[in-house]
Amino acid sequence: MTFIGSLTEPALFPWIAFAIGAAVGSFLNVVIHRLPKMMEREWAAQCAELRGETVDEGKPYSIARPRSHCPACGHQITVFENIPLLSWLWLRAKCSACGARISVRYPLIELAAGVIGVYCAVRFGPGIAAIAAMVFLWAILAASAIDIDTQLLPDSITLPLLWLGLLVNISGTFVDLRSAVIGAAAGYLILWSVYWAFKIATGKEGMGFGDFKLLAAIGAWCGWQSLPLTILASSLIGAIVGVALIIIARRGKNVPIPFGPYLGAAGALSLLWGPQLTRQWLEMI
Ligand SMILES: [Zn+2]
Repeated sequence: MTFIGSLTEPALFPWIAFAIGAAVGSFLNVVIHRLPKMMEREWAAQCAELRGETVDEGKPYSIARPRSHCPACGHQITVFENIPLLSWLWLRAKCSACGARISVRYPLIELAAGVIGVYCAVRFGPGIAAIAAMVFLWAILAASAIDIDTQLLPDSITLPLLWLGLLVNISGTFVDLRSAVIGAAAGYLILWSVYWAFKIATGKEGMGFGDFKLLAAIGAWCGWQSLPLTILASSLIGAIVGVALIIIARRGKNVPIPFGPYLGAAGALSLLWGPQLTRQWLEMI
């Protein structure tokens, strides 16, 4: 069996998907940590340029550079300290040089990305649908984590995700292309309208433009038929988590809650179980 052949062997595919997923999770950790900082640096540079100041770019900062290091002591992370999941356990959640704690979030993201890989592999079997679904869910995972951290939904994730959804559905992988195109436009317009209605009624901004783009991407992947379910599910999940946070964490009612993670979770539901859930929901009413 060739190497490529073994990648698509039905029995092996879920295991390979888990390993690749965990490695992708390790990369997503870098994206989640660095992408918002890269955006802030870019905005700062643009502002400085507008003020007519000379811009000091400083040291290069991107997804690839500088190499991964301990934020406490600067110890550069070796290959063996960078194995998804295993290194965190092996190092007992501590930096090997200075003993600073390594957040449990790193292995959790790696585990989540690995589970996404396995689930899509088992659910769709070897093929384009499995790989596409993995990419969709990984992107949503990264975007949600960034939104929780910084209240930002980067264009560099939501916009390519939208285009990719349209491309994937050219051959009708999840929905027909017509449903995907209408889904993308309607997804954006629905939240855009809610935003302006809320702003005119209350004078406040209820959500960000990133949310519109994320729902447009979900519409491109899952079709316009999935939008009612996505909006309903995200509001429901958001309301439950929001009330829980106010009660359990005693969070104030006016602390802004990022909407991206709820939209993302509802988008994942829509892609994986959308038609079944919509049918049940319609039967109920
Ligand atoms: Zn250290």
